[in-house]
Amino acid sequence: MNQYPEQIKILIEKFSRWPGLGPKSAERTVFYLLKQNKQSLDEIINNITKLKNDIKICDQCFNISTNNPCPICQDQKRDNSTICVVAEPQDVLVFEKTDEYRGVYHVLGGLIMPAQNITPDQLKIKELLERIKDNQTKEIILATNPDLEGETTAMYITELLKNNPVKITRLAKGLPIGSTIEYADEITLSSALKGRQQVK
Ligand SMILES: [Zn+2]
Repeated sequence: MNQYPEQIKILIEKFSRWPGLGPKSAERTVFYLLKQNKQSLDEIINNITKLKNDIKICDQCFNISTNNPCPICQDQKRDNSTICVVAEPQDVLVFEKTDEYRGVYHVLGGLIMPAQNITPDQLKIKELLERIKDNQTKEIILATNPDLEGETTAMYITELLKNNPVKITRLAKGLPIGSTIEYADEITLSSALKGRQQVK
């Protein structure tokens, strides 16, 4: 046998496209699955199916939830006049853990990355502009990472809104340059939120 059977080859090829998995770790993953018994494999498959069937994307803020609209958008006690703009749904969870923020969110679904062909029209930027059209929004917090893509995206949105009366702020103190919000601890993020600076 000078190569793996097709069933294995296909899975290695699929897994190697996953974030953080190269061909070698994809191969290890497939052989790990091969060692599992039928019951635990079925469990994994069922949970993956549930992921697609049960998890919905909120059509107001584009966060993930089992409900649409999500519980944050449905919560009457949240301040709808402040929108915290984040790149990914994982970032919402980190902000929620700070227990500091009472506004709502807007999940862009990524950041502008020309090198990877991720252009503004692929992100939920149009939807953000649409959302603030009713003039209920007083502040937009651009909570993207303080790295190249995060800054580019924040600058792009600020430029789009330059003639809009909405106040725009950017997370400040606490977040080291090049760091990611996903891995920031609650205290750091909480201080970054409090120390946010007006950019427009
Ligand atoms: Zn929502």
